[in-house]
Amino acid sequence: MLPFVGPATFLRAPYRPLTEQWEADVGFLGVPWDVGVGYRVGARFAPQAIRQASLRYTLPPEGYYHPQHGYRLGGLKVVDAGDVEVPTIEYALAHERICHSARALRARVRLPLFVGGDHSISYPLLCAYDDVPDLHVVQIDAHLDFTDERSGTRYSNSSPFRRAVEHLPNLTHITTLGLRGVRFDPEAFASAQARGHTLVFREQLAEASLPEGKQVYLSIDVDALDPALFPATSSPEPDGLTYAEVAHLIQRIAHANTLVGVDLVEIVPSLDPTGNSMLIATRLLVDCLLAYFSSPASPDGR
Ligand code: MN
Ligand code: MN
Repeated sequence: MLPFVGPATFLRAPYRPLTEQWEADVGFLGVPWDVGVGYRVGARFAPQAIRQASLRYTLPPEGYYHPQHGYRLGGLKVVDAGDVEVPTIEYALAHERICHSARALRARVRLPLFVGGDHSISYPLLCAYDDVPDLHVVQIDAHLDFTDERSGTRYSNSSPFRRAVEHLPNLTHITTLGLRGVRFDPEAFASAQARGHTLVFREQLAEASLPEGKQVYLSIDVDALDPALFPATSSPEPDGLTYAEVAHLIQRIAHANTLVGVDLVEIVPSLDPTGNSMLIATRLLVDCLLAYFSSPASPDGR
């Protein structure tokens, strides 16, 4: 079926709401909450935009074919679980519903994919992982998101990982990859350092030490990518990562650890009228699937 035909679900997977009982390998859940954003708004529209773009990556039953790697992801069962029904304003209610839906998705699939929304959603999403011992977070992001508070707000997209470490004693380590810019919060940086986080600046990526043998929750903020490549984001920073750098990090992290969940956040579709950012965002989710489920014949996941 051509990529502009028919109703849009993620990779043209069947839509099964979380009110029903089902099981699958992969579940897609939209989290259209962007009230926590500190700059340009509109990430609430990303789940629908990614569904639309993902029709170009429709997964055939026999899998994707590459002449050098053969068929991959054949028979993979993907379900689009719809979106969290977020309120318009009340953040506590939003967090409750996001966490509840994330738990429900975790119970049904091997690999949950959460698409925001702004980065504030990572806190309620991580709350659904309070039972995972020695949980590691790997955050690919230009920013630290470890601010205690900003303009009197404690649950914005600047603070999800600060709130997460306060609330989740099982969250033992955070690795942040791709840091850059001139707007660091000194207190947040000192606090993350004091907790022993692995903080990797953009220039140090090649030598980054990544967790191994851990249960890893991967949080991808698309502003890690270069804004020339991915303009559709709220808080762009120049000199970002290339697509290949991010794809390679995903492969390294997924092959050395067990991914327990992935979120992809801070996508503002209206900021890229070409639509290229949406295609790249979809491809990053496909890269997560390739890295997690790829056969030994194609260990590089490409
Ligand atoms: Mn960021
Ligand atoms: Mn972020």
